[in-house]
Amino acid sequence: MTVLGDVLKDNREFVENFQGIEMSHHAAKNLVILSCMDCRLIEFLEPASIVGEDAIRSIGAALYNLDANEVLVVGHTDCGMASADADELKEKMIARGIKEEDIAKYDLAEWIGGFDDEEENVRNVVEKIKSHPLIPEVPVHGAIIDIVTGELKVLVDGY
Ligand SMILES: [Zn+2]
Repeated sequence: MTVLGDVLKDNREFVENFQGIEMSHHAAKNLVILSCMDCRLIEFLEPASIVGEDAIRSIGAALYNLDANEVLVVGHTDCGMASADADELKEKMIARGIKEEDIAKYDLAEWIGGFDDEEENVRNVVEKIKSHPLIPEVPVHGAIIDIVTGELKVLVDGY
């Protein structure tokens, strides 16, 4: 079975067993959570460690349009982005058929947004959100989740 076929099969099973309810698109806890794309996190959280304008825009949308009043940045241990290496990435891109001339148009280190320390990255992201000119005065918290135990540790209490 293809990956898409597998997703559709799982979806059919989910829909058969799901008790559908009407839900508001407004944030019930008035909280927007920014996290990593790591698939292990959905075991702990429902919704990027490096925050770009796309993430800031999403946070702004949640704050202005979805009744969110607080932001929680959640990093995690053993993050794949902590070891992102531009040279290694370039080799992988070439191996998958990306043209070197196209790669050369990008600063890969900036594009992939790797970092050295997960906790320091969370603090940096919190600062970046708080200092963005289009983000209003709201509490911005930072935490890190242990990917094995699921324990959430607060690094920045935004209150
Ligand atoms: Zn991660």
